[in-house]
Amino acid sequence: MTRRNHDIAELKRLDVAHHLPAQSSYKLQRDIGGSRIIVHAEGSTIFDGDGNAILDGMAGLWCVDVGYGRAELAEVAREQMLELPFYNTFFRTATPPPIELAAKLAGLLGGDLQHIFFNSSGSESNDTVFRLVRTYWGIKGEPERKVFISRRNAYHGSTVAGASLGGMSYMHVQGDLPIPGVEHVMQPYVFGDGFDEDPADFCARAVQDIEDRILAVGPEKVAAFIGEPVQGAGGVIIPPDGYWKGVEAVCRKYGILLVSDEVICGFGRLGEWFGFQHFGITPDIVSMAKGLSSGYMPISATAVSSDIVETLRSVDDDFVHGYTYSGHPVAAAVALRNIEIIEREKLVDRVRDDIGPYFAKALAKLSDHPLVGEARSLGFIGAIEIVARKGTNRRFGGKEGLAGPIVRDACIGRGLMVRAVRDSLVMCPPYVMTHEEIDRMVSIIAAALDETSETLRALDMP
Ligand code: PMP
Repeated sequence: MTRRNHDIAELKRLDVAHHLPAQSSYKLQRDIGGSRIIVHAEGSTIFDGDGNAILDGMAGLWCVDVGYGRAELAEVAREQMLELPFYNTFFRTATPPPIELAAKLAGLLGGDLQHIFFNSSGSESNDTVFRLVRTYWGIKGEPERKVFISRRNAYHGSTVAGASLGGMSYMHVQGDLPIPGVEHVMQPYVFGDGFDEDPADFCARAVQDIEDRILAVGPEKVAAFIGEPVQGAGGVIIPPDGYWKGVEAVCRKYGILLVSDEVICGFGRLGEWFGFQHFGITPDIVSMAKGLSSGYMPISATAVSSDIVETLRSVDDDFVHGYTYSGHPVAAAVALRNIEIIEREKLVDRVRDDIGPYFAKALAKLSDHPLVGEARSLGFIGAIEIVARKGTNRRFGGKEGLAGPIVRDACIGRGLMVRAVRDSLVMCPPYVMTHEEIDRMVSIIAAALDETSETLRALDMP
């Protein structure tokens, strides 16, 4: 493959002059003289325009599960583009790839989740959930069931409905969100919110908070509960044992739909095809994106139960929702081949039986570090908590979010891409990462913690 030569200085100049990157401070973008330009990637390593090779501990943005440089995904896209680059699914038309992909997903999801609606992003998938659920209850003759229950610190996207369903208060500030009809309850964050509590008691409290809110709103007004099996962008929050079974039981008790947002957890991240399968629950709706195509094309999917589809089929009306790119043939063809790669290379088994346990063991070594309050993982997603005093969950400077970015920047400087969520350092690497690369990831984090410890301690100085 011939690689293009880029004028990096010029790109950085143009970046500041014309390009507004996602979820960014445009002041910082300008002050640092433009974004870091990533020009190439292979396996689990990304390369920037300044000549740095960086181990990608984040699989792009929780998505490049099969790793970079998969020529067959490019080939399948090329073939589909030449055969049929686009046709819509609006007017009783469809194309082969989304139909084949829907059938494939139905097989992987199993049970009643046999119908798939396509979108281009995780946010759009959750917008679909929002409109579909309310339409469903309307047809069922319970139009007052409009309220969604979600968790604080959940991430469900950046569109108006996605950010409203999400529980990020800093996102709600911009644009007067959430929109009416979304209620946020406590998150199952043991380290942050249940530190001194017995995990079983904490779990019961988190489930009870959902039931209390349902009763406060009025069960006849609650449409659905939405949650990520493991909260990703919120800081890799792994719920305590029994949480999801408890949530499911509460939803069933009040006839509320259960929505599993699998945008990060789907496609093997937790060691099963889907996170709900790991936790042994049966959702009515599943949102998927990211790992569906390993980020090679923008595509997302909303799986719904047969009961929901039967209800929609009980009326003549159109479901007046959908996008130009719903079921985009090229994106769907790439997603199908991506799933084929995951199956052929047994990557879900690899997460569950090999790299998942290896990662957990490697992370456990970090637990001994004086600045680490907890190292946790499930499958191939994990986090460490940076604390000011070992044995506590006290943060540096007495404030959340000061230490995390400092350690993150030190990691990037040492050749590891990780993200800081407040004072957690989060990891979600490609499934093809080798044992040696996992060891390197962990030793870079240890070195970054050592390197920054004086700076962090200074945050605590009066
Ligand atoms: N849901 C979850 C659980 C996510 O992690 C994300 C993205 N991080 C989204 C939804 C939104 O996906 P997108 O950025 O593709 O709109």
